[in-house]
Amino acid sequence: MFKNIGTKIISVFGIVASIAMLGMIAFYTYTQEQTILAQNERTMKKLTESVIEGLQAVMLAGYADIAESYALRLKRVTEVTDFVIMRTNGREAFLDNSTITSVNGRIGEEEFVAKESTQLRQILPPDSLQLRKVLRAKQLISYYELDANNDRLLTFLAPILNDQECHKCHGGDNPVRGVLKLTTTLAPIDADITRTYYQSLVVLVVMLLFVFVVTYVLIRRSVVRPINALTNAMREVSKGDMDQLIPVKGRDELSHMAASFNQMSREVLHSYRGLKHEQDKLNTIILSSLEGIVVTDSGGHIVLVNPAAERLLNKTEEQMRAGGFLNILDDPELISRNLCQDPSKLAPTLIEYKGHMLEMLASSILAPSGEVIGSTILLRDITAEKNLESQLRELSTTDGLTKLFNRRHLDDSLALELKRARRYKMDLSILMFDVDHFKRFNDEHGHDQGDRVLQTLAQVMRDAVREVDIPCRYGGEEFLIILTNTPPGGAQTIAERLRKSVAETLIDGLSVTISIGVASFPASNIEASDKFIELADAALYRAKDEGRNRVCVA
Ligand code: GH3
Ligand code: MG
Ligand code: MG
Repeated sequence: MFKNIGTKIISVFGIVASIAMLGMIAFYTYTQEQTILAQNERTMKKLTESVIEGLQAVMLAGYADIAESYALRLKRVTEVTDFVIMRTNGREAFLDNSTITSVNGRIGEEEFVAKESTQLRQILPPDSLQLRKVLRAKQLISYYELDANNDRLLTFLAPILNDQECHKCHGGDNPVRGVLKLTTTLAPIDADITRTYYQSLVVLVVMLLFVFVVTYVLIRRSVVRPINALTNAMREVSKGDMDQLIPVKGRDELSHMAASFNQMSREVLHSYRGLKHEQDKLNTIILSSLEGIVVTDSGGHIVLVNPAAERLLNKTEEQMRAGGFLNILDDPELISRNLCQDPSKLAPTLIEYKGHMLEMLASSILAPSGEVIGSTILLRDITAEKNLESQLRELSTTDGLTKLFNRRHLDDSLALELKRARRYKMDLSILMFDVDHFKRFNDEHGHDQGDRVLQTLAQVMRDAVREVDIPCRYGGEEFLIILTNTPPGGAQTIAERLRKSVAETLIDGLSVTISIGVASFPASNIEASDKFIELADAALYRAKDEGRNRVCVA
């Protein structure tokens, strides 16, 4: 009902104003009524008193029979409803002959003629309260009562005193001779009062209407309109239209409110534009990022997928949304297991997906309060990096020309294998060999031909040994093979087989021979790997000394 503030204010004001005005009117009509009644009472009292005076004068003059017609004439006065002269027993006087008889008897002559027809009319019961009161008080009393039509009546009871002059006719037994009853109706006065009441009511309604209209117009202008302007502006802001300014009129609280709103609106707009700018930047970064980004809300629904994520996972955003966040890598368990709840402890996980190596960072997004407000997955394709890494690793451990392990790998491996052999009490042997007269071969056939020989030798070596053995290029045209878990006898056999195999291999119709030195652990007392190599080298030199193309054991 009271949907807007204007109606509310008007209603409250209307109720208060109506109560106040009604009170005023009630008070006014009540005082008016009391004044009229008092006025009337005074007038009627005077009338009654003058009637008694007149009656007394008539009686004293000896015209008691005129008193009757006097009473009859008084009844015709407009204000007088009823006028009766009663005896002290409440019976109307002048209707029977009892007084005439007693007066004639007292004065001793037939002064007053007896009536031919008599009657008795009881006006008030002899024990009537009012009658007793007037007889006791011996002075005028008045009282109000209602008639059959519910009209108010005002009655005066006035005692007719038995004065000294009256004793001649009426005797001196009773102090009061009779009672005069004068009744006047208040109907015309009540009608006046009711009319006044209705007139006041009409005035009240007109005044209230006027006050209502004026107040409503004023409140609309000074309260409702500014509040509506403010409310509408706020509604527009809540819908997203931040550019809202409302007119500021006057200097009341509402104007302050409007000014504050304008200030707030400007601030919000400024911050909003700043945020929008930052968001645009962020969007550009996200969209152009090479890293795949997938973000969910707190309910786990995907809210953001950037083009890189679509490319890396080979799925559209719609497909990802349909499959759900945990299925974006087709392995819900993988994501649940790696979803880090504490972003400060975030660590990447490497996964292989559709032939690509991906680095994944999966984490919950936490609000400053610590509440989880979403999840995010960042994906980076590291296939190329991984390939490069393995290439580098290969380059760092292999020799470019022969693709055998290089000197660095040899040193590391030999030290490791020596430790292992010592720890597990296993045999470990090495073969070290050098191409015979290779300087001369180069001179005769060229350096390139020499290189091809070295490459072929490497292949022969690889074929001659087991997978667990480690063939290395020691430097130049010198090679070394680590033979794991191999005793001196076995090493010598392999060396001999290799020597023969090399000698029998033709490269472009040419062939070379090699001299081999063999050393073994624990057959020889070897503390460190360099000592191991020294022993094999010494054996190799012996083989050279003894005529080349042979195997010598340290
Ligand atoms: P010996 O029988 O005493 O070993 O005689 P040699 O001529 O082989 O003497 P040495 O082992 O000292 O010779 C090393 C020669 O090997 C020098 C160089 O011409 C040749 N050589 C070293 N490294 C390479 C290489 O990478 N490619 C080619 N083509 N030749 C190499
Ligand atoms: Mg050499
Ligand atoms: Mg040589």
